[in-house]
Amino acid sequence: MRTLDELIKHGVKGRRVLVRSDLNVPIKDDGSGPRVTDDGRVRASLPVLTKLLDHGARVIVAAHLGRPKGEPDPKYSLGPVADRLAQLLGRPVEFAMDTVGSSARMLAQDLDDGEILLLENVRFNAGETSKDDHERHGFARCLEFLTGGDDDGGVFVEDAFGAVHRKHASVYDIATLLPAYCGDLVRDEVRVLQQLTGDPKRPYVVVLGGSKVSDKLAVIESLLPKVDKLLVGGGMCFTFLKAQGHEVGDSLLEVDQLDNCKRFLDENGDKIVLPSDVVVAAEITDDAATETVNADAIPAGQKGLDIGPESVKAFAAALADAGTVFWNGPMGVFEVAPFAEGTRGVAAAVAAVSGLSVVGGGDSAAAVRALGLDVNAFGHISTGGGASLEYLEGKTLPGVAVLDA
Ligand code: ADP
Ligand code: MG
Repeated sequence: MRTLDELIKHGVKGRRVLVRSDLNVPIKDDGSGPRVTDDGRVRASLPVLTKLLDHGARVIVAAHLGRPKGEPDPKYSLGPVADRLAQLLGRPVEFAMDTVGSSARMLAQDLDDGEILLLENVRFNAGETSKDDHERHGFARCLEFLTGGDDDGGVFVEDAFGAVHRKHASVYDIATLLPAYCGDLVRDEVRVLQQLTGDPKRPYVVVLGGSKVSDKLAVIESLLPKVDKLLVGGGMCFTFLKAQGHEVGDSLLEVDQLDNCKRFLDENGDKIVLPSDVVVAAEITDDAATETVNADAIPAGQKGLDIGPESVKAFAAALADAGTVFWNGPMGVFEVAPFAEGTRGVAAAVAAVSGLSVVGGGDSAAAVRALGLDVNAFGHISTGGGASLEYLEGKTLPGVAVLDA
C-alpha cells in the first residue's frame, strides 16, 4: 500500500489531490441554522488535509453525509460541515454547490497551491452507490476529471475509514483511475484492527452492546472463538436473557435470533457474561420512573433500558486485567439521562484498561464524547462503525483492498 508520506516525498505542490474523507457527522438545527453536533470525524480528517495543504497541494475533498437517494437533498448538504472544517483547519474552505457539476469544476480549476475545496455530498449522485459497475465508473470519471487526471498530476488519497467497507465510486472506483495512496487515518485504523485479529495480548475481552443481535451476529460469530470473555449489554442482552429462559417484559427482543443466542450460550457459555441486573422503565423519557431489578425478574410491561450497577461492577472486574479490549455498542439508551449510567461506567472501565483499548461503532464513539469522558484515555477510538465490524468479521474492505491492487 502506498502511503501518504510517499506521495508527499514525490512532491504534491501544485497537484490536485482528491481526498476521500469521512465527514459523515450528526447535524441538528435548533432554530439558528444547521450545526454539526459531534465533530469527531471532522477532527479525525484534519491531519491528512493539513499535511497536504502544508506541502502546497490543491486539495479537493469528497465526502458523503447521511443517506440521500442519489439526488440533491438540502437536508443532507455538507454546507454546515464546510463551516466546521474551516474553523478547525483555521483556513478558508471553498464549498461547491454540486459534486462534479459546473460549480465543482470551476472551483477545482481555480484552486491555488495550499487551497482546499469541499465538494457537495457525493451521494447526491446516483452513480456513487450504484450497483451497476458502469454507472459507478462513470461518476468516478467525473471525480477524476476535477483533478486533471494522472497526466496532469492528479492523485487520490483514501482517508475515509468509515466508508472503506463500501464499494462506492468515490471510495473504490476512483482508486482504479488515479494513482491511489492510503491516508494516515485509514493506515492507523487498519493497524489497530490488525492487532485485534492477529495475536491480541490476553486476556482479550470484548464488550458488545447497542441495539440488535442481528447487527452484530457476524462479529459475535467470528470473535467468540478468539476472545477470553464476551460481555454483553445494550438492547441485545435481552435476546440472550430470553434464550436462557428469562422473561424480558417489553425489552428489545429479536425472536428470530433466539436460536443463535442459544447456540452461542451452548458452545461458549463460559465466556459470555450477561448483566445480572437491569434498569427498567415503562417509557424512554428524561423523567421516566426507573427501577433496578434482577435480570431474571424483569416485570411485565417494563423495558430494560440499561444495565444496572451490579453488572457495571462485574463488567469492570472482567475488564480490570485485560490485555486487549474491544468495545462496540452502548450498554443502554445512553442518549436519555436515566439510562446513561451503564454506558458511562463501562466506558470508564474500558478507559482504565492498561492494555490496548479500542472503541468501535459510531454510537459508542459518540457516547464517549457526549458523556464527557476523556477521549485520550482510550487506546483508539475508531471513526468507522460498519467498517471496523466488517474487518473484525474477516471481510475484505473494498476501499482498502483496491489500494493493494
Ligand atoms: P454502535 O453505533 O456503537 O455500533 P449501535 O448502533 O449498535 O451502536 O447501537 C446504538 C443504539 O443502541 C443507541 O442508540 C442506544 O440507544 C441503543 N440501545 C442501547 N441499549 C438499548 C436498550 N436496552 N434498548 C433499546 N435500545 C438500546
Ligand atoms: Mg450505530
